[in-house]
Amino acid sequence: MRTLLTIILVIYTTTIYSQKLSQINFNFTGAEQFYNLCNKEAVTDGDIENMLNMECYRNMFGYLVNNWGKNYNKELYDNIFKTCFIPNKHSLKPENSNHKWILNYISKLKNNPEKIKRYIETIKPHLDQEIILKRTFSYLPKSTKEDTVNIYFVVGLNQGCASEHGVFIDNYRATDEYKIKRYTLPWIAHESHHYYRSQFNKTDNQINDKHPELFQAFYWLETEGFAEMAGSIHKDFIGYINSKKNRNQIYRDFSKNIDSINITLTKYFKDECSGKDILNVLSPPGKRNIYHETGHLMAYYIESAFGRDVLIKQIGKPIEFVLMYNLAANKLNQSDSIPVFDSFVTDKLIALIT
Ligand SMILES: [Zn+2]
Repeated sequence: MRTLLTIILVIYTTTIYSQKLSQINFNFTGAEQFYNLCNKEAVTDGDIENMLNMECYRNMFGYLVNNWGKNYNKELYDNIFKTCFIPNKHSLKPENSNHKWILNYISKLKNNPEKIKRYIETIKPHLDQEIILKRTFSYLPKSTKEDTVNIYFVVGLNQGCASEHGVFIDNYRATDEYKIKRYTLPWIAHESHHYYRSQFNKTDNQINDKHPELFQAFYWLETEGFAEMAGSIHKDFIGYINSKKNRNQIYRDFSKNIDSINITLTKYFKDECSGKDILNVLSPPGKRNIYHETGHLMAYYIESAFGRDVLIKQIGKPIEFVLMYNLAANKLNQSDSIPVFDSFVTDKLIALIT
């Protein structure tokens, strides 16, 4: 009996090991400092420089330069913040629509800083790291290394992002408890998943060299699919997609998305279109990308057909993730009608990884 108990205990502690030793460090200093500057009578160049030298912003620039491009650096933000706070001395001429978009966002927030204060006061009592980490770790392999994730609340992104540099949250719209619980906490679990998942980033050089856009598109489907599974309370999600109101629309959109990916991949493998076209289908220029909802349903079907362990094995393997989805859809199609990729496409994908 004692042996059995020991075995059970060992299994239990191994399972929760990573999660137990992992922690979240919620860091509001970036948003708070921005709020302070909004209420300061005469902001100086030095104030802006000091703010941007804070740990949260230094890490944010690390993230941006790696992921948005080398122009999204401290210098750009120094110009943007100074233009917003000290317009009589500085005036940045935005080089492109993205710079303009960031400038407008920061200016607007500067004129309504109470929003930030309300948001911070509302969210702080609800930041239960155990609940968030439980969601995050329910879709990570047991081998995930324990670690502390820094969640930085900053100003300058107008969205959430994450990588090995930490998680950055910049969205101060949710100012009541319901929205915080319903949307913001799952969203933090989603972004935390990206952080921990980045341990499993491995670039398959061969595929990446020959098919960089295809690899990129599948990578986003996989990472967003998993993060959405972790972020959404799974039971809620099942209820949501199966509710009469949403079901038809969600299935229609999903089928349409899988069909367009299938058509584009067919052309791509027949040399009738370029890799860029694959990215354009998933991320149409000027429109919202479809990685989240498409990846989410793909992950959901894999779990429904083969269980969570099989799903989690696809982490870090974007092509296998897509192929596993196809197997899942074929299996589930005995009772349902789920879109699949043509065998021409899956044969080509299998050839890439074997
Ligand atoms: Zn995401």
